[in-house]
Amino acid sequence: MSVWQKEIGIALLLFLVALIAGSLTGHVLLFVFLLTLGLWIRQLFQISRFERWLSMGGRGKYPKATGIWEDIYYHVYRIKKNEKKRKKKLSKMVNQFRKSTEALPDAAVVLGPNDEIEWANKAAREVLGLQQTDKGQRIPNLVRFPEFIRYLKSGNYNEAVILPAPVDHRITLAMRIVKYGAGLRLLLAQDVTQLKKMERMRKDFVANVSHELRTPLTVLKGYLETMQDMDDGNSPLLTHSVQQMQGQTERMQHLVDDLLLLTRLETQQKKVQCVDIPALLSQICKEGDALETAAGRIELLLETDTHITGEEQELRSAFTNLLGNALKYSPDDSKVTIRWHRSENAIMLDVEDQGEGIAAPEIPRITERFYRVEVKRSKKVNGTGLGLAIVKHVLMRHDAKLNIVSELGKGSRFRCCFPVTRVCN
Ligand code: ADP
Repeated sequence: MSVWQKEIGIALLLFLVALIAGSLTGHVLLFVFLLTLGLWIRQLFQISRFERWLSMGGRGKYPKATGIWEDIYYHVYRIKKNEKKRKKKLSKMVNQFRKSTEALPDAAVVLGPNDEIEWANKAAREVLGLQQTDKGQRIPNLVRFPEFIRYLKSGNYNEAVILPAPVDHRITLAMRIVKYGAGLRLLLAQDVTQLKKMERMRKDFVANVSHELRTPLTVLKGYLETMQDMDDGNSPLLTHSVQQMQGQTERMQHLVDDLLLLTRLETQQKKVQCVDIPALLSQICKEGDALETAAGRIELLLETDTHITGEEQELRSAFTNLLGNALKYSPDDSKVTIRWHRSENAIMLDVEDQGEGIAAPEIPRITERFYRVEVKRSKKVNGTGLGLAIVKHVLMRHDAKLNIVSELGKGSRFRCCFPVTRVCN
């Protein structure tokens, strides 16, 4: 029998007793009234006891009760016990998480919706100079680098921002924000001093080697020219050797020039001006047309007169590389189209050829330094593998993107997309 059935059974029995007693004494209504009053007072007493127990936090064992009230006490007691267990487990997890993040070598700061510090680990206190008392303070008031504040405000956290550590400017930090939960953000700062040092060493090494190679190359080229002038054609071996040596020094010269250009792109400040792109393209195409293998192949479509802010020499290198590739990697009698046009949100340069095309898996790799696609061709195509790396760098410095569409055997289209914010005429 359930508790409810028992409770109802007792009530009915009491009513029956009241009815019998009432009819024996002739006061049925009085007996029923007294019984109802008794039951009501009992329930009121139980409710008040229950309320008192709850108001004291429902702590400890519940008061002794009978019938349905024992069940009610027991259910509430069980819910509270489970809740307590869950809380304990959760706080253990939070503690473990805190301990592990405290031990992290990278700085971690939890930021609230108004950039206020909600929590920071030990590394954050050390490397960002935060104090325990800084909780609730806005992070831009403590990490005051304009670049960091711009990054924080931008809301675009796809990339990290590289900054010196506020406590020690010899330490370089890569700071990154990760969004999570409702309006919360986690600021992570990693010490990249060694990485940056090695990167600088690599750049310096490439720059120095390329620079040092220039003089011996010039001397070699000079002697080779003299030898060529002196060659009377009587020794085919000599003629062939000189030609081979000239070809190779030429190749090395290109390599050194490209490496130096890349170094310049990585290290030099930009000199920004308003560049007349249609004029620049006309000049590049004219120079291209003068080449033996390119005569009559280039078609220039200037659909807009848009000028953009940028560095003319860098843009010239990038566009020349793209045109050079289109001519190199397509048959000598095929057309190459250069198109300067604009849409609502971008200004675009398309360099389109009807050449050998590029296999889809190769496309993401061809902008890497020294990467050249291995293709069996009827003619040998010279190159350094640095052309598209230069293009990528130049475009990056102009907030532009390179988009490549290609189909093997059909041709390729290299599109440079410049943002409209760069329009200057
Ligand atoms: P490279 O000096 O070898 O031309 P790039 O960096 O300019 O170096 O190009 C890298 C590779 O991408 C090239 O070796 C070539 O295989 C491929 N490539 C570049 N442009 C084209 C194109 N228009 N058509 C087909 N393949 C291309």
